Amino acid sequence: MPIKSKLPHVGTTIFTVMSKLATECGAINLSQGFPDFPIDQTLSDLVHAAMRAGYNQYAPMPGLPALREAITAKVQRLYGYGYDPDAEVTVTAGGTQAIFTAIGATVHRGDEVIIVDPAYDCYAPTVELFGGSPVHVRLGADMSFDHDAVRAAITPRTRMLMINTPHNPAGTVLSDADMHRLADLLRGTDILLLSDEVYEHLVYDGRKHATVINHPELRDRAFVIFSFGKVFHATGWKMGYALAPKDLMTEFRKVHQFNVFSVNTPAQHALASYLREPAHYEELPAFYQAKRDRFAAGMEGGRFKLLPCAGSYFITADYSAISDEDDRTFAQRVTREHGVASIPLSPFYKDPPEHQHLLRFCFAKEEATLDAAIKKLCRI
Ligand code: GLN
Repeated sequence: MPIKSKLPHVGTTIFTVMSKLATECGAINLSQGFPDFPIDQTLSDLVHAAMRAGYNQYAPMPGLPALREAITAKVQRLYGYGYDPDAEVTVTAGGTQAIFTAIGATVHRGDEVIIVDPAYDCYAPTVELFGGSPVHVRLGADMSFDHDAVRAAITPRTRMLMINTPHNPAGTVLSDADMHRLADLLRGTDILLLSDEVYEHLVYDGRKHATVINHPELRDRAFVIFSFGKVFHATGWKMGYALAPKDLMTEFRKVHQFNVFSVNTPAQHALASYLREPAHYEELPAFYQAKRDRFAAGMEGGRFKLLPCAGSYFITADYSAISDEDDRTFAQRVTREHGVASIPLSPFYKDPPEHQHLLRFCFAKEEATLDAAIKKLCRI
């Protein structure tokens, strides 16, 4: 029976492809973004305690009240704005589900959604699944946000703009000035904003995370997406949350309730306690900055040229001095022949720039893993 695909041009996500290849080749896996070290014992103990205490049935659909309160307390503390935990916070099965749900709840057939390439690979297919049209613009040459390109892409059919800071894969961050310019750009329109801020705590060199939450005009039109997996080294938990003004969140929950209904109960109990201790997220920038610096310093001994990384746990490297192969071919060859897996950048683009030779490396790894990878990469 012929199947009419809803996503005819979509294959298997590059993260799965490269992680699988890494396993097959026994390569060091710096491709898919996940830590290779354990979660905090305290967090693990909290989950066990919640399970033993019998918290093993459905959580309330929008999330455990204690966790939603802990989230709003943290957001208030860091960004100075108090979302209503009852009406404006929903706990999700990770950032990707939150993104899917926000798009599903608001993008109508024929709506345009502006996506800034390189962009995380779930954005455009999700828009298409719901009948929207992705409109792709690009970051500037130095991977900075190009406000003019976004302005030029706005039409009367634009329903949503998707932004991501700290940025995966580029490792760049938006500044407060960028947020002001964005507010200027969107003022007077009814364009929604989806702000993917899953790496909020991974911002380096003394900078503070600039969030749309800080900016009332942006916040009022935004879904802001966060991830517990990314920041507490537990990507396999698939836990995150979305924040949005009440009217938007009401629509979000209409979809969420039929998509996942509710999210892992013992993990929600654990996170509700864990989040109450600010040290658990305040120590993250220094922790990851040391890893970034170790990787960057080590890679100076080789022919890859690293681009600056101001945030996230990804750093991109230019391999023009080594090869003029396309990035997928080169990434696969480096995995097979040199034993280090990475992510090529072209899958993050609708139309990859010609002659761009960039790979993304994940540095959320033990020092020994980074050192072993550096040794192999510097021999290429
Ligand atoms: N966010 C992770 C990354 O960028 C991948 C998550 C996934 O594989 N879906 O590598």
